[in-house]
Amino acid sequence: MLRKILLYLSQAGWARAIVTHFFLARRVARRFVAGEKMDDAIQVTHDLNKKGLLVTLDYLGESVQQVEDTEDVVNTYCQLLHRIQSEKLQASISLKLTHLGLDISEELCINNLRKILLVAGDIPVTIDMESSHYTDITLRIFRQMHTEFLNVGTVIQSALRRSREDMQQLAAEGARIRLCKGAYLEPETIAFPKKSDVDAHYIAIMDDFLQHVPPAYLDIATHDEAMITAALEIIDKYQVPQAGYEFQMLYGIRSNRQLELAKAGYKMRVYVPFGTAWYPYFMRRLAERPANLWFFVRSVVRG
Ligand SMILES: Cc1cc2nc3c(=O)[nH]c(=O)nc-3n(C[C@H](O)[C@H](O)[C@H](O)COP(=O)(O)OP(=O)(O)OC[C@H]3O[C@@H](n4cnc5c(N)ncnc54)[C@H](O)[C@@H]3O)c2cc1C
Repeated sequence: MLRKILLYLSQAGWARAIVTHFFLARRVARRFVAGEKMDDAIQVTHDLNKKGLLVTLDYLGESVQQVEDTEDVVNTYCQLLHRIQSEKLQASISLKLTHLGLDISEELCINNLRKILLVAGDIPVTIDMESSHYTDITLRIFRQMHTEFLNVGTVIQSALRRSREDMQQLAAEGARIRLCKGAYLEPETIAFPKKSDVDAHYIAIMDDFLQHVPPAYLDIATHDEAMITAALEIIDKYQVPQAGYEFQMLYGIRSNRQLELAKAGYKMRVYVPFGTAWYPYFMRRLAERPANLWFFVRSVVRG
């Protein structure tokens, strides 16, 4: 119930106006967000790289409605890619198609994405998955780009009933896919309402997919120890080579476990978001774990 309310609030403009107004809310959001400026994210990336962690950088933003605003997004990502290249960072980028103008027009979005992919060269670019409203179009755009750019990947959510079939096809296509549980509120007709079903689906999908890597590649994106254990068992069962997978977690969540996995020799990538549009991202993190909400409320009350 609390999750549903928080996910509803993540989309509500009036709630965004109230929460982002508070300096203290911004301070609490810093637990999950590198900062508002690109320099903040670059500094965090240097620090994480020094600890043996890979990074994927996300310029926060979604649901852009003005063409001019998408130009700023493309420029920021291109600058970010230049910084990754010139500062030799161990980093990839993640982006959202609605940040690149998908709600305005598919053509605009594809043109913007292509500009970024051309600058990216070998740097991996992951198209984040948004709500189920965008699943088909995201997969279509991913497949179109994948014929031109080998460094592009996308995301599949185990919460959606369709995902096992999608993943079987994507594995056969040699795609690079990040598997996550899914952060959006979805109707029961298309998504599993019970966590146990989402988890079982996650494991079944990994079992299918990891038999096809490489050339396919799996980003195992989860903080759930049960999913990590299952992944390690499957990797062992099929003797999956390191060239076919990596673990991924979000910045600010289970940082010690991230280090442990990296020290054990696994590729471990941290998703590092930055920018001023942190509100929906922050609310989705609160929705994932009610304890975060109490941490937030306590910090605001205490000042
Ligand atoms: C690298 C990465 C990229 C992602 N990209 C996408 C995407 O493109 N589209 C999408 O829909 N979703 C994305 N997600 C979010 C994902 O779908 C889940 O909502 C999120 O990862 C929580 O699921 P979980 O697998 O960690 O398991 P859960 O069952 O939610 O959590 C398991 C345990 O992990 C810890 N944990 C989980 N979340 C938090 C939190 N917020 N704060 C503190 N502890 C926590 C807790 O200990 C919890 O008990 C991404 C996640 C990661 C790690």
